[in-house]
Amino acid sequence: MALFKRTKTKAIPNENIIVLEKVSKAYATGAPALTGVDLTIKRGEFVFIVGDSGSGKSTLIKLLLRELLPTDGDIYVNGQNLVTLKRRNVPKYRRNLGVVFQDFRLLKDRNVYENVAFAQRVVQIPTREIKKNVPSMLSVVGLAGKYKAKPRQLSGGEQQRVALARALINRPPILLCDEPTGNLDPKNSWEIMKLLDQINKKGTTVLVVTHNREIVNEMQKRVVTMKKGVIVSDEEKGGYIDED
Ligand code: ADP
Ligand code: MG
Repeated sequence: MALFKRTKTKAIPNENIIVLEKVSKAYATGAPALTGVDLTIKRGEFVFIVGDSGSGKSTLIKLLLRELLPTDGDIYVNGQNLVTLKRRNVPKYRRNLGVVFQDFRLLKDRNVYENVAFAQRVVQIPTREIKKNVPSMLSVVGLAGKYKAKPRQLSGGEQQRVALARALINRPPILLCDEPTGNLDPKNSWEIMKLLDQINKKGTTVLVVTHNREIVNEMQKRVVTMKKGVIVSDEEKGGYIDED
């Protein structure tokens, strides 16, 4: 009788929603952007990623988004191995991720409602569902009254809240934010960070790349510090490490 042949798969505990093992990334030119990065993030964690410009933070985000593949090492997200993930499965994989960038990236000619609804249309949620989901998500981010406004009619903080609503409308288990407050004043920065904290407290795993040392020091979350492509510290309830 033939034995069942098992393909060799590595058991990744379900509680570890993001695992990087010895991840390196070299671009075609220049020094490697990441070298031998090991990082494990548990389901439900809130993690700040800090470090000088050029230390590899955005490269890390792009690897998680599967915009880039590592030169070396393995990346597992929500149980999937991103290195072996087939190209045709990338769109489905990305449904695990909400993403927010410094520059908002809204559709300029669409109003707030349409910007958020669009993310649901892409994944073919029925219109009657969208009509319920969008207003409720807009009220979570405090924009219920602005659904008809175009992005140019909104402040930076409001635009980022639209981007956040769009990132979360399909209820991804992971939210990735690359310098979400980089274009905002301190008051709006705090409002966005408090929203991220609330979202995390309801169960979403949240990764935030930031330069905002006051917020990092105040919020007392896990802080991963990068320098020249390596993780130089990783502290629970950490603070922003001052250079020099
Ligand atoms: P950070 O987000 O921390 O500022 P990045 O991940 O953007 O850092 O960049 C890390 C390093 O990789 C930098 O030295 C940067 O110049 C380089 N880099 C980033 N993107 C590219 C690219 N597309 N091609 C070549 N080098 C790049
Ligand atoms: Mg960056």
